[in-house]
Amino acid sequence: MASSSLGRLTVITGPSGVGKGTLVSRLLERHPQIWLSISATTRAPRSGETDGVQYFFMTRGEFEQQIEAGGLLEWAEFAGNLYGTPRRPVEDQLNGGRPVLLEIELEGARQVRQSFPAAFQLFIKPPSLAVLEQRIRGRGTDSDEAIARRLARAGIELAAADEFDAALVNDDLESALLQLETLMGLAPHPSDGE
Ligand code: ADP
Ligand code: 5GP
Repeated sequence: MASSSLGRLTVITGPSGVGKGTLVSRLLERHPQIWLSISATTRAPRSGETDGVQYFFMTRGEFEQQIEAGGLLEWAEFAGNLYGTPRRPVEDQLNGGRPVLLEIELEGARQVRQSFPAAFQLFIKPPSLAVLEQRIRGRGTDSDEAIARRLARAGIELAAADEFDAALVNDDLESALLQLETLMGLAPHPSDGE
């Protein structure tokens, strides 16, 4: 069947600061066959971020043109900025048989659930809201206002965790990584005592 040569699409969602970026970069080091989509955003680059590497940084006008041209697979507003997944590269990679990963927020994950119902949708939870706040603050990249917006949004995202195919808690990084690999079918399931 033609569809058997299609790569699998995986969506990873979870509140800002939960460790999605950290987990995904470790996953890609260990499984370089996975292709991570680079999103477009109107957010300003953080220190150390480069256009075309972490994101394609755009003005709101450029982003809106992309929406109008149908160039985005999904998009959403998050904490005052627009974020979206460029459609073409994702389709090309899937057609080429490569596993594709999207690291996106809740509204985008819901859109992908409609357009790619076969995608595997995974939610990452923090051990607690207090730990989440510590991680966002510890990252040292966001203003107090941005942190407050991200924490307010975190409650909404956490309440939607049950919509996802699976969820894992990012407490100890190594064990979260192992769970992620297992859920994605990249490592054998750990023994559960038979
Ligand atoms: P996200 O991409 O979900 O916004 P990041 O990957 O930027 O989150 O992680 C936020 C902060 O939390 C970073 O400083 C990162 O080093 C730290 N972090 C990520 N995972 C863990 C973990 N399992 N234990 C402790 N700190 C973590
Ligand atoms: P950050 O500003 O911390 O890089 O990202 C903020 C939020 O935007 C995160 O939850 C991240 O997953 C989400 N995000 C990043 N790229 C996209 C995208 O292309 N689409 C959507 N819907 N969300 C995205």
